[in-house]
Amino acid sequence: MMENESSQKPDATRPEPATSRLEMAETEVGSVFVSNYPPYSQWSEQDVAAFEKALHTAPQADAPPLGMYLHIPFCRKRCRFCYFRVYTDKNADEVQTYCDALAREVDAYAALPVVQGRPLRFVYFGGGTPSYIAAKHLAELVRRIQAAFSWDQVEEVTFECEPGTLTRPKLENIQALGITRLSLGVEHFNDHILQLNGRAHVSTEIERVLPWIHEIGFEQFNLDLIAGMIGETWETWRDTVEKAIDAAPDSVTIYQLELPFNTRVSKEFLEGTLDVPLADWAQKREWHQYAIERLSEAGYVVSSAYTMVRGDCTFRYRDSLWRGADMMGTGVSSFGHVGGVHAQNTANWSEYLDAVAAGRLPVTRALSTTSHDRLIREFILQMKTGSIDAAYFDEKFGVDVLKHFAAPLADLAGRGMLTVRGDGIDLTRAGLLQADGLLPAFYDAEHQNARYT
Ligand code: SF4
Repeated sequence: MMENESSQKPDATRPEPATSRLEMAETEVGSVFVSNYPPYSQWSEQDVAAFEKALHTAPQADAPPLGMYLHIPFCRKRCRFCYFRVYTDKNADEVQTYCDALAREVDAYAALPVVQGRPLRFVYFGGGTPSYIAAKHLAELVRRIQAAFSWDQVEEVTFECEPGTLTRPKLENIQALGITRLSLGVEHFNDHILQLNGRAHVSTEIERVLPWIHEIGFEQFNLDLIAGMIGETWETWRDTVEKAIDAAPDSVTIYQLELPFNTRVSKEFLEGTLDVPLADWAQKREWHQYAIERLSEAGYVVSSAYTMVRGDCTFRYRDSLWRGADMMGTGVSSFGHVGGVHAQNTANWSEYLDAVAAGRLPVTRALSTTSHDRLIREFILQMKTGSIDAAYFDEKFGVDVLKHFAAPLADLAGRGMLTVRGDGIDLTRAGLLQADGLLPAFYDAEHQNARYT
């Protein structure tokens, strides 16, 4: 699935540079997506002890909101462009074993000093494909999570779905479990494009589930699209955008296809065996821009570089993380952040199951952040909303970001990517369409050329 624009990029194997790809025009393998700071390559086993210490420290009175991410690493089929940690070969027993381990990991978190007295504010089931799990196993998993952490004060529970895994009774069960935000990984409506890109679902499955979603009535319905999938043309993209509008979601998340090194498409492209042309970044930005324009005409407004929303639609998971929330990252390869320390679970299936079974933390790398790291992290992530409120950073970190980042801001303003006003920053449309490519300019010098993962 794709909607998780905030923090989870669960495959730790991508050798990517953190340097800016601003104005990158040619088709090129590599990824520009930024989901955290400092770069993952700077995290290490050494800091796992600092994470353990943070978990065993009682929370401060002004502790940030607390959330939970649960990684469900199963898919029916691996997409050609996928770079997530997913499995397509696990049988029902293995899925059940994994769900048991996940519930045990959640139980272990519930006993830690750092979460005592702190209500859970948001929950995110990401993947992979959470809707791959059978309804009865899902109900049991949610029951065990709720036994460990009350959902009384939870403001949002997101659940990612793949259209072909849904039936009407399953959707009704999902809603009855307390899911408030249903995120449907459509990506495209054209069967030829879906098939070329190795998606598991077909358009009739999308069309079948849309009425059910509306009839059952989730608080929020998000639909994901990707601009520039293999085989994309103006005709197919225009048609997909129209069908997305007809589907009447509360929010539409639009990505530009990324090509990290570990995807099938990237390998074929580098080997010269890819049988279809790939859109370059300039073309993908044009398609993204077109979607923003059409969705704006249809009553949606920009909520971030990736998300268009209508009505009073909010995205608490994203907004909480981009403002420094703590999040327990559970499941194989998940990322989390608690008490100022970033951490990632092992990306190895057996290691994960063994650690949880033995009552050990499955974390394999971590990074203890400084206040300055956290300032940069929140600044770059909030840049992805398209604007920065300088007063927020002054109040929280005691830093005037307009002065602190004066040099990169002046450079990017000169390139037409943003404007600096008296009390904040606004990205231009050109800046918004390549927001992630702008962000490394704000990194500390030591991280400017570090690998990203
Ligand atoms: S649906 Fe495709 S892109 Fe999403 S996690 Fe599964 S294999 Fe990867």
